[in-house]
Amino acid sequence: MIRLDKYLAHLKYGTRREVKKIIRSGEVTVNGEVVRNDDYKIDETKDEVIYDGFILDYQEFYYIMMNKPDGYVSSNNDELDPSVLHLVFEPYAFDLQCVGRLDVDTKGLLILTNDGKFNHAVTSPKRHVEKEYVMDLEHPLQEADIQQLYDGVCIDDEISKAIKIKQIADMQYAMVIDEGKYHQVKRMMHAVHNEVLGLKRIRIGDLYLDENLDEGEYRALTKEEVEILG
Ligand code: URA
Repeated sequence: MIRLDKYLAHLKYGTRREVKKIIRSGEVTVNGEVVRNDDYKIDETKDEVIYDGFILDYQEFYYIMMNKPDGYVSSNNDELDPSVLHLVFEPYAFDLQCVGRLDVDTKGLLILTNDGKFNHAVTSPKRHVEKEYVMDLEHPLQEADIQQLYDGVCIDDEISKAIKIKQIADMQYAMVIDEGKYHQVKRMMHAVHNEVLGLKRIRIGDLYLDENLDEGEYRALTKEEVEILG
């Protein structure tokens, strides 16, 4: 159950003060009856709330999958580059946080949510959730490089290992890791004297980037997708 003013404010119809005014002016109906009481309790799972001609669709938490383009930062603000949140055309966009970061020049699968518990569950180092990246490299990886990446290279005074490396084309490889250190893939390639020229994340856990999403596009995660990750 949730108070009607909180319900409307969560849906971004205004501040708590503004939505109280809307409610008192009789513009909101609940199950067909005008409600002017701002502390009226709504059962968000079954009550039908109508405002401004729309049946409102209440969700406490939002989960989005984006195909992040190059040139956007995966934080809420940055002085130099625009935030990915500017690509989310939803009233709640600026309530969202990125689930793990991608560098400004990295593309691909980025999850955004306002569910802090889910965010922590996916990014917690203890869970070792796998991430798969497609890398365009400056040089091909030699057998010895691949073995070194499996054995582990030193990053931040710790050993980071590749879980799986697969060649896709001459200079293109997919690599799976289960950590999320800053610039991890780029630094792992530096450790074997290589350079990442292009990087795209294609998977987090069992969730693959939806191939129907063009760069910059997003869609809501399904309930099942949230469950497999959370
Ligand atoms: N590793 C990197 O180097 N950059 C990313 O954006 C993600 C993983």
